[in-house]
Amino acid sequence: MRRSCSRPACASSASATFTYEYRSSTVWLDDLAAEDHPSTYDLCAAHADRLTPPQGWTLADRRRSARPTSLWDMGSGTALAG
Ligand SMILES: [Zn+2]
Repeated sequence: MRRSCSRPACASSASATFTYEYRSSTVWLDDLAAEDHPSTYDLCAAHADRLTPPQGWTLADRRRSARPTSLWDMGSGTALAG
């Protein structure tokens, strides 16, 4: 079953699923869930990367494909240039 991004006007296929809970003010971002669920939302990679939680909320990115520490890459590039 193919699922598409839940953002309006976005036709990309979903690659991540996000869930939120008011009680703990937390947003979870996971790899695309195997099953569709009424309380989860599917997002394409671009929208998942741009997802920002409301003020005071915590975003927990649990995607396996999430890139670790891009800051390190930027740092080494600068060092090589110098
Ligand atoms: Zn999208």
